[in-house]
Amino acid sequence: MADQTTPDVNLVDKTEDLVLDAEGKPISKKALKKLEKEREKEAKKAERAAKEAAERAAREASNVDYSTDRYGKLPMNQSQQRTGLKRERITDINASRTSEIVLVRARVHNSRPTGAKMCFFVFRQGVATIQGLVQADPNNISKNMIKFAVDIPLESIVLVEAVVAKPVDDVKSCTVSDAELSIQKIHVISEALGRLPFSLEDASRPEAEFGKVEDAQFSRVNLDTRLNNRVVDLRVGYSIWRIPVLISQIHLCHHILSQTNANHAIFKIQSGVCQLFREYLIGKDFMEIHSPKIIGAASEGGANVFRVRYFKGEAYLAQSPQFYKQMSVAADFDRVFEIGSVFRAEDSNTHRHMTEFIGLDMEMAFEEHYYEVLDVLDELFVSIFTGLKQRFSKEIEAVRRQYPFEEFEFLPKTLRLQYAEGIKMLREAGVEIGDYDDFNTEQERRLGRLVKEKYHTDFYMLDKFPLSVRPFYTMPDPTNPNYSNSYDFFMRGEEVLSGAQRVHDPAFLEERARAHGIDLATIQPYIDSFKHAAPPHAGGGIGLERVIMLYLNLGNIRKTSLFPRDPKRLEP
Ligand code: ATP
Repeated sequence: MADQTTPDVNLVDKTEDLVLDAEGKPISKKALKKLEKEREKEAKKAERAAKEAAERAAREASNVDYSTDRYGKLPMNQSQQRTGLKRERITDINASRTSEIVLVRARVHNSRPTGAKMCFFVFRQGVATIQGLVQADPNNISKNMIKFAVDIPLESIVLVEAVVAKPVDDVKSCTVSDAELSIQKIHVISEALGRLPFSLEDASRPEAEFGKVEDAQFSRVNLDTRLNNRVVDLRVGYSIWRIPVLISQIHLCHHILSQTNANHAIFKIQSGVCQLFREYLIGKDFMEIHSPKIIGAASEGGANVFRVRYFKGEAYLAQSPQFYKQMSVAADFDRVFEIGSVFRAEDSNTHRHMTEFIGLDMEMAFEEHYYEVLDVLDELFVSIFTGLKQRFSKEIEAVRRQYPFEEFEFLPKTLRLQYAEGIKMLREAGVEIGDYDDFNTEQERRLGRLVKEKYHTDFYMLDKFPLSVRPFYTMPDPTNPNYSNSYDFFMRGEEVLSGAQRVHDPAFLEERARAHGIDLATIQPYIDSFKHAAPPHAGGGIGLERVIMLYLNLGNIRKTSLFPRDPKRLEP
């Protein structure tokens, strides 16, 4: 009988083999080996983690910044290199690109640190905005980097390398709502200096908000302050309003987003008017010209012209391209137009006068009657108004959201009133005015309101002005010499175009100039240009900024001029 205390060899083997699984069942040798390998792996992993933690602790304790290559101010760009790395447009970033690494150049529209380890940003390109987030971690992003990011002044331009991530909730305060940028690197390309002259949010606040009690604490940025800081002013508009409120109260979203801001929109619409003016006239066989702006003689008798030193003598800044467009017609160009600067030395400090504005001018030879030209001008305006509605509705809406206005009404065929009819309407409304008096601004507006009530249009033509209130080169009316073949066009009751049939007969032109007390010697080259025969012709000059101001009912022409010039403003 075997000794009971001596272990049976087989039994020992079996006992050693007998490792049980979680349910107490023995497991096989193969499974056992696998288990041992896993345990070894875990031990190594734990060892590695402990080592890393120790290193991290040491790094943090020694204050070594492990992110220095991830942030900083870039040297001034002198075009040192061209990496060709693709830079993204914010508008092209969305949730479908999650996990992609992107490089974005944008302005810091807003930043909000939360503690020392995290900072939220709103980055802006034009009016497109996206949320960014930089978060300290022990391996890549140091607290120093967070501090640097937090301190970047608003409006600075930065280069951000980031991973596109899905935000926890939709970021309704940015134009990109389904994606955010998890910032990996942030470098300042161009740093904003000093405080902003006004808060972009105040400047972007819709006019309608100012009447509300709860907004009483907000200040309205006045037009002068805006114009003194025009570059910053031009960046702002309704679409970026409220973002800072929302970034700190991410759940309080007001869905106020648009793809463009009011100021950008105004100048897109301005560019649109020029484009539509050009397009229409080119389509009618007109040719664009560029007349000189430095001239040797004051064109209309010397009043309201700026004198400039011209070497040892004097010159003047052109008050209009009038003479040159007529001379072009005399040169058989037949149909010409020009978009160019016009200078007026008028000390008029009004909502609608500037000392420099852009004139949209046209002049054309006609066959029989100047109404041929009025027909072209009629179609031209209707095509501009129609084109604006068709192509710039987004911009029109962007302006309307900040500066609410009533839709501009116009007829497919423009109303033509005679001056005498206008006088009659005014008189019937109780206005005292002589038959041949020129309208003052209030009378013009009054007539505009009467026309709107009666004919439901914000745009009309007034034909046959009294001869006495028009320039010397205006053709008198053939039936009543107190009137003339001249016209003005009005938008919302204010003049936007002035035009006429011109005198093309040189002898008669001289007679008319003399009647106006003009020294013929100063306009001799102009008169002479008709001596070799010129066709009958007519035309008109439109004030670009006035058209935009009145179409959008902005109330002040300076809002529609990029850098307005008036008797009190020559800067910036
Ligand atoms: P207003 O009577 O309003 O001073 P005007 O009769 O002197 O204008 P014109 O010389 O006929 O104007 O000029 C043609 C157009 O140019 C005007 O209808 C207007 O749209 C624009 N315009 C004229 N003067 C100015 C100005 N100082 N600032 C801006 N636009 C102007």
